[in-house]
Amino acid sequence: MSRVVHLSKIFTSPKLHNTKTVISAWTKKSHFHIQSCLYSSSKNNGNNKAGGDKSKEKDAIQTHPCSNPSQDTNKENSNLKLRQCKPLDINPLSSPVNCNSKIPSIKDCPTPNLMSEIPDPKCGYEEHDGKHRSRNKTIFLLGLLVVALTMGAVWFVSPLEYKTEKQTEKKETSKGKKKRAIIKTPANSKDIPKKVPYLLIGGGTASFSAFRAIKSSDPQAKVLVISNESFYPYMRPPLSKEIWFNDDKDSVKKLIFKQWNGSERSLFYEPDDFYVECKELMGSPNGGVAVARGWTITELDVVERKAYLDDGSVIEYEKCLLATGAKPKLSPVFQVAIADEKLSELVKTYRNVYDFEETLEMFNDSKSIAIIGGGFLGSELACAMARKDKKHSKRIYQLFPEAGNMGKILPEYLSFWTTEKVKAEGVYVLPQTEVVGVKTENNGLELTLNNGKTLTVDFAIVAVGVEPNTDLAPKSDLEVDPDLGGYLVNTELQARTDLYIAGDCACFYDPRLGRRRIEHHDHSVVTGRLAGENMTGARKPYLHQSMFWSDLGPDVGYEAIGIVDSTLPTVAVFAKATDKDSPKALVTATDEGIRSNIEQVPPECDKYLTEEQKAEAAESRKHSSVADKAEGEDFGKGVIFYLRNDIIVGIVLWNVFNRMSTARQVLKDQRKYEDLNEVAKLFNIHEE
Ligand SMILES: Cc1cc2nc3c(=O)[nH]c(=O)nc-3n(C[C@H](O)[C@H](O)[C@H](O)COP(=O)(O)OP(=O)(O)OC[C@H]3O[C@@H](n4cnc5c(N)ncnc54)[C@H](O)[C@@H]3O)c2cc1C
Repeated sequence: MSRVVHLSKIFTSPKLHNTKTVISAWTKKSHFHIQSCLYSSSKNNGNNKAGGDKSKEKDAIQTHPCSNPSQDTNKENSNLKLRQCKPLDINPLSSPVNCNSKIPSIKDCPTPNLMSEIPDPKCGYEEHDGKHRSRNKTIFLLGLLVVALTMGAVWFVSPLEYKTEKQTEKKETSKGKKKRAIIKTPANSKDIPKKVPYLLIGGGTASFSAFRAIKSSDPQAKVLVISNESFYPYMRPPLSKEIWFNDDKDSVKKLIFKQWNGSERSLFYEPDDFYVECKELMGSPNGGVAVARGWTITELDVVERKAYLDDGSVIEYEKCLLATGAKPKLSPVFQVAIADEKLSELVKTYRNVYDFEETLEMFNDSKSIAIIGGGFLGSELACAMARKDKKHSKRIYQLFPEAGNMGKILPEYLSFWTTEKVKAEGVYVLPQTEVVGVKTENNGLELTLNNGKTLTVDFAIVAVGVEPNTDLAPKSDLEVDPDLGGYLVNTELQARTDLYIAGDCACFYDPRLGRRRIEHHDHSVVTGRLAGENMTGARKPYLHQSMFWSDLGPDVGYEAIGIVDSTLPTVAVFAKATDKDSPKALVTATDEGIRSNIEQVPPECDKYLTEEQKAEAAESRKHSSVADKAEGEDFGKGVIFYLRNDIIVGIVLWNVFNRMSTARQVLKDQRKYEDLNEVAKLFNIHEE
């Protein structure tokens, strides 16, 4: 009997205590399955460290079905059923598909070079007209000199800004690749205001959301943003999803992506002309927002309310927001690799537009790529690259230590199912795999794996999570949370008087779920907005539960809220998905790809609704029953509850959209529910 059937049975249990008992027993069993997998694979490597009764473990392997996503099933992807454990079986050395060895070499050219047989031209005119020609030559050379001198003079007196752009627009790597370099705009800090009412440090989503909030409470506000990127504020989520699916090279160059429904959208939050020039900000009668790009703040004096730029100049502020985001983490082996000049060209992290542009260029020139990391970024990138490689001429490997994709978030069975989906996209998924050594090999990268094998690829992307960017903390006397990282703030997102923190770098107190730090788009939007409001005097607490989403391409996506940690016990209800249950269908219906922008209170959330809405919801519920319809065979769509001390602390909505406010209300309740089936009904997942 498949697990899914077990689940259906579980969900028909009328009482929560029954449900829970079965679930936790099941969870333990699953755990045992994983250990069995490890045991069998390590045994095959001649390195069996598992203790205990081996014959029993063997029995367990035979009698209990256990998914082994490490098997290469790309060719049998339609079959997503779970299978028996087998040792890791990868063949990283096999040659990429469609490798054409018959390209003719230059040596094979059979035609003689006839040009070499043509005699030198002889012309009587040359001798006759010699004097004339030498005078013309002199005039021509003089002319050239004058033009060169004029151009040099123009360049010398032209604005420094223009020169800097031309000089630093692209840097060349040793592999001959052009790499975008940081451009300072304005080029000279004398053009950046020395004293501003509002200073926002970091030009990401949280800052963008903050300046919107400031301008809406104080329309004449003068806001200065300092960003160490060369761009105006932009959104990051499409960088690992939609932008890879845009085949129009020109629009990709302009950082335009196509939403899943095909409509075009810019990565930038606002067009360039929304912003005022830095040097004009303080004189602007209606205020405005100016962004000093390519500039870094290196230190804050929170008592004197001063910020120091990287050239040592100072900006005084009245209110300041620190929204410096997060930076990619690296495992020790990749820390060493990235410190080496040659290796660093082949080992990439992925966070911003520069990374996207560089990765795309490398992807186009590559035959094999390794993506290290099984979380949402690694999984999204792997799927996006596999889809982009329409001719299947490349090998895209995804390596991670967990047993399945998104294994830290999703319950094990769903993580395994997701791995099969990722494989179906054409990705060579290598779970339970870690990189223990990195070196260059024939212009490529050789990765030594924990199972003793090696994998040679053209380049690798390390997507193993991020850490909050708190570089300013030590010099600025700001406190960082020792466990979670991030600047410590109170519920009003204040670190010190007149200093606010928002986005990925904030460690805040959630009165319901305890101290937290969140690295997601919606959280940045919401905290940025709240910080902006509080900077204009609102004094509001941060009580909102933010959400996040991830799309593995246009067909599979999920939204989540609260603490979604696969080590917690979970209870889930699934139903069969229809064509309407996909990220693409959602974007087609709403024309909005940034998921957090489309939240609304659905009518079925009856505890919080009017009598009329409640009656409507009750009527619709007569036609659906979780127990009857819990098919879940392919985990098409569903709702997963994460429990801590029997209370729901997190919810994943799997291919279920527009239900986030229901999830938020459920989380807010903090109740011990008698029957989670009843809670699941609120999400109407059986609606066709
Ligand atoms: C490829 C990708 C895909 C993602 N997809 C999703 C998704 O699907 N769903 C989701 O919920 N979340 C997603 N995220 C996460 C989300 O984008 C982030 O949580 C969000 O961008 C954080 O916003 P922020 O403003 O806190 O930080 P950031 O957007 O990182 O902005 C911080 C900015 O500050 C700059 N900075 C840092 N230090 C300084 C300094 N000292 N001086 C000046 N400037 C400085 C940084 O360079 C950066 O530009 C994704 C992230 C990435 C990278």
